[in-house]
Amino acid sequence: ATPTSIMVGTGRAAELGVLFRKGQALQTLRNAHVIALDKTGTLTRGQPELTDLQVLPGFDEDEVLALVAAVEQHSEHPIAEAIVAAAKERQLNLPEPENFKSHSGLGVSATLDGRQVEVGADRYMKQLGHQLDALADAAEKLANEGKSPLYVAIDGQLAAIIAVADPIKEGTPAAIKALHDLGLKVAMITGDNRHTANAIASQLGIDEVEAEVMPDGKVEALRRLREQYGPVAFVGDGINDAPALAEADVGLAIGTGTDIAIEAAEVVLMSGDLRAVPDALAISHATLRNIR
Ligand code: ADP
Ligand code: MG
Repeated sequence: ATPTSIMVGTGRAAELGVLFRKGQALQTLRNAHVIALDKTGTLTRGQPELTDLQVLPGFDEDEVLALVAAVEQHSEHPIAEAIVAAAKERQLNLPEPENFKSHSGLGVSATLDGRQVEVGADRYMKQLGHQLDALADAAEKLANEGKSPLYVAIDGQLAAIIAVADPIKEGTPAAIKALHDLGLKVAMITGDNRHTANAIASQLGIDEVEAEVMPDGKVEALRRLREQYGPVAFVGDGINDAPALAEADVGLAIGTGTDIAIEAAEVVLMSGDLRAVPDALAISHATLRNIR
């Protein structure tokens, strides 16, 4: 492409809210065979709400929610905000935790009034050696509804299951359809539960799912997709997404996401609306149509 056509292409993209930080990204985007997207905050709004709370016999719902929210008030995960908001809505009093710990990709823990509270994914509970049988079916049912299940343990005893659900962004279904119409494979990469991820993927018609990926595993997931399909574009918004944005053949960050993701990306989508991705692709094709 001539410098002029690149300038015209990047200019048109900018009008649609897509910033190409390097002209070369027009070319790499056009060459992509698969578009991989982060789930939380990219396909979904990133603002989950608490939908379910089920306690085992011997535990009180409000008491469990207060303990969990007390731990989560020190976490920055969107899940944490959903739980704290639900506790505030019930006007629960949140005690101040000691020894708060955030276990990346797993969950959180703390001590409250001498009680050890752990909240997180099933793999976290398994790591801690907790028995999940009493709530495993409930968890799978919630996950199959597209909700994210979290287990709660109090003093080493399984106490409850909580579910949060994160609404899909308005533009997401149309964006995926447009990407398919352009002949691309669409993949989702997430740290979330496999059943949850599969439920959301099938609702959206997503072709490939990489679920229960640890924060440092997104790069590896991208490499697998590249091996299978060829050049890969990745779209993400979070701190965890920065290495994958750098690893991808072309990285696209959501402009409303974290600065670290934006810095790692070659393309920035000014709005959170994913319809900008097929728009950007269409421009890259138009700009480079007659170029070999
Ligand atoms: P994602 O960005 O896809 O949600 P993360 O790596 O941040 O992936 O989290 C993976 C999983 O770890 C979550 O789906 C959840 O089960 C668990 N988890 C992470 N942070 C928390 C938290 N603050 N409270 C409870 N569970 C958490
Ligand atoms: Mg995200």
